Amino acid sequence: MCDTYGQYLTMKVEIDAAMQEVIKSTQFIKSGKVLEFENELSNYLQTNVIACANGTDALQIAFMALGLQPGDEVITTPFTFIATVEVLALLGLKPVFADVYPGTFNLNKKEVEKAITLKTKAILPVHLFGQCAYLEPMLNLAEKHNLFLVEDAAQALGTDYIFSDGTQKKGGTIGHIGCNSFFPSKNLGAFGDGGAIFTGDEKLAAIIRSIANHGMKAKYQYERIGVNSRLDSIQAAVLSVKLKYFEKHIKARQKAAAWYDEHLKGIQEIQLPQRVNYSTHTFHQYTIQTNRRNELQQFLKEKGIPSMVYYPGVIHLQEAYQFLGYKKGDFPVSENLAETVLSLPLHTELTEEQLEYIIRVIQEFFSK
Ligand SMILES: *Cc1c(COP(=O)(O)O)cnc(C)c1O
Repeated sequence: MCDTYGQYLTMKVEIDAAMQEVIKSTQFIKSGKVLEFENELSNYLQTNVIACANGTDALQIAFMALGLQPGDEVITTPFTFIATVEVLALLGLKPVFADVYPGTFNLNKKEVEKAITLKTKAILPVHLFGQCAYLEPMLNLAEKHNLFLVEDAAQALGTDYIFSDGTQKKGGTIGHIGCNSFFPSKNLGAFGDGGAIFTGDEKLAAIIRSIANHGMKAKYQYERIGVNSRLDSIQAAVLSVKLKYFEKHIKARQKAAAWYDEHLKGIQEIQLPQRVNYSTHTFHQYTIQTNRRNELQQFLKEKGIPSMVYYPGVIHLQEAYQFLGYKKGDFPVSENLAETVLSLPLHTELTEEQLEYIIRVIQEFFSK
């Protein structure tokens, strides 16, 4: 599904040197490397960046920083990775689901609007698989109803959101807060765990930085209850090197996706990932839909081709979330997607031979 080692080999000299530098310094925690990386990413995104331990923490810290009260409602999608919803539940907030668009897998603005109540305090769109959710209408809803907009941009670092007036901003930098993950397989992947929080609001940035550092104000003075969530120096050093090649890596992903598009578009039984005019696509995943999903996955496996189902279950039907009171049929689009989606191998090191082989096997399956 991804070739982390192959990608490393293309940057080996620089990454090895950067890691050695940290080891020699023995400044594994809170070194200048982390601040350097934060600054580099901040230049790239044109917003404040606070590094933290992982993407789940990024979401948790974001919602701690907003100062919401237990029982406050946050509207999000049931078709996402569990972390999006888990942190809300952990903080005593109430996840309220809205269904997604069948083509983009992202929150449907009409469903979001319908889900707003007097208790709603935030909207939490997820930019699934590398394409931004339809943010502009959600920004308008947030303004109208005085809500926070928090972006789960864990899968979409580098994606551009395109506003109706033509201006562009990076996904994750548009809402009040954006959350990112550097999990190894993500668009910008570390060699371990890592995460970051983005905000254009200086006051929020200071609160977030304090929360991620035990709620500290000055040394051994604590102004709020916080957590311990930091990116370590080795990860920061690796990420700094990889950030230099990030645009090139995105182009490689887009090229592989274009190849899939071109060669799969003739197959009636496959629905290709939809593109929209309000977002670029950085293809964290290339996800097709087909009614013969399980059979196709088995066939690919027999031919030595990995594929993954993201996500085989919707969150409102998971055992742990029964307390929310949802039932089967509540979000039919998401429920159907869980039965039909299949993500194909997509990474920066895919060769034409590999792509040709994958296409040939898929064509063979659908000609049967
Ligand atoms: C990966 C991911 C996260 C969590 O990131 P971790 O670094 O694994 O904690 C959150 N939300 C989404 C949509 C993700 O894909």
